[in-house]
Amino acid sequence: AKENGRGCASMFERSMHEAVQDRRNIEMDLRAALKRNELELYYQPLVNIDSNETIGYEALLRWNHSKKGMIMPDVFIPVAEDTGLIVPLGEWVVRSALHEVAKWPEHLSVAVNLSPTQMRSPNLVPTIINALAATGVAPHRLELEITESVLMNDNQSNVELLHKIRSLGVRIALDDFGTGYSSLNYLRSFPFDKIKIDRCFVDEVDSREDCRAIIRAVTGLASSLGMVTTAEGVERSDQLSQLKEEGCMQVQGYLFSKAVPAVHVEGRVADSATS
Ligand code: C2E
Ligand code: CA
Ligand code: CA
Ligand code: CA
Repeated sequence: AKENGRGCASMFERSMHEAVQDRRNIEMDLRAALKRNELELYYQPLVNIDSNETIGYEALLRWNHSKKGMIMPDVFIPVAEDTGLIVPLGEWVVRSALHEVAKWPEHLSVAVNLSPTQMRSPNLVPTIINALAATGVAPHRLELEITESVLMNDNQSNVELLHKIRSLGVRIALDDFGTGYSSLNYLRSFPFDKIKIDRCFVDEVDSREDCRAIIRAVTGLASSLGMVTTAEGVERSDQLSQLKEEGCMQVQGYLFSKAVPAVHVEGRVADSATS
């Protein structure tokens, strides 16, 4: 029994050690994965709430690991950010997504997630410009999703960078809205094209008046500022009807589709073109 305390401590040390080891393994694997083409973009539709039509897709990273199977971004994106691997990874994402959207009809756009570390890379703007030129995709068909953390601490250089990107004609969306701090101040410091209302408010919009009130306030605010609103994580038709009532413009979630491989999108696009 007297070994108990020590036993716990060494167990703790061991699991710490394993966690560090895990991250090292993920980092090494991820470097190889980039070279071996094990990364793939999946696409989830964004739907116009009134017409029920798909207006574009959000690109979401997946890692088809040769031994471990499918790995989700929540596992490897944080490691990629810490190690700086997110920079080459993110450049690959921009190029692949634009290459893909070039195959779709003109009215469909693609949304790409940008992480804070990527914004410190001097390659970001040239990558976007070159990929647009190489694919011939009109800039307004590309939307970049950023989170509030990018604008934290009055980050003037990021604000300038976003203005520069926007001046290319590329659209900017504020992702996970409502989960960070001082959200309203960010709406003043940068003119977003779109606000994506986080899933945590959408979850209970069909059962809780307070969630409904928040969504109503955000959609009202967004429309006064000339911004589009997208509700994330819509899973039930009851949520959909409430979101419609509260003035939300676009929806995204499992109710319509989860993220699917590019070939599935190409199939759907071809089907709707011939029918
Ligand atoms: P996010 O940008 O907020 O993306 C939305 C996440 O919610 C996606 O998870 C999506 O599959 C999931 N989702 C969509 N509809 C529903 C729904 O109805 N219910 C539920 N429960 N979930 C839904 P995913 O694909 O696992 O991505 C997680 C996060 O990883 C993303 O959150 C984003 O922050 C990050 N991420 C994904 N791809 C990239 C990328 O290419 N670059 C960067 N920097 N981050 C990425
Ligand atoms: Ca996103
Ligand atoms: Ca989000
Ligand atoms: Ca997120």
